Amino acid sequence: MKATHGRVVSLHYTLTDDLGVLLDTSRGQESFSYLHGYGNIVPGLESALEGCVAGFSSAIQVAPADGYGEYNPQAVFEVPREQFPPSEDIQVGMQVQGEGEHGVMNFTVVGVNDQAVTLDANHPMAGKTLHFEVEVLEVRDATEQEQAHAHVHTHGHDH
Ligand code: ZN
Repeated sequence: MKATHGRVVSLHYTLTDDLGVLLDTSRGQESFSYLHGYGNIVPGLESALEGCVAGFSSAIQVAPADGYGEYNPQAVFEVPREQFPPSEDIQVGMQVQGEGEHGVMNFTVVGVNDQAVTLDANHPMAGKTLHFEVEVLEVRDATEQEQAHAHVHTHGHDH
């Protein structure tokens, strides 16, 4: 069975950056499953997996534009330190949530002093070329409920 729109693909993946640094992997854990054709994974990976079958194994390189987007230097901005509770220990590298243009967004703290906190709205993997090693384990039809929800129901999913 081929991975096409509305099918569920189960795979193992390892993700590294340009320097070979490990960013993420499913190895040693349960395999990763997604509903193909619904934009649930980065576009470059989804298009590379189009039509693949169980047993497909490949190295797939995804450019930033087809991954988590180009890095946008204008998405870095300062907010007054008093917008955060005085007790909160703000540190560089932390992820914080706040209201953005598209509802609740995640920001990375890239600077902090007594007056201001500098936040970066870019995805932590923005601007990175993604190097995937994938091994497709299974391709199956999605259930009607999975198609209606536009995501996969695996064990642990509670509805
Ligand atoms: Zn659901």
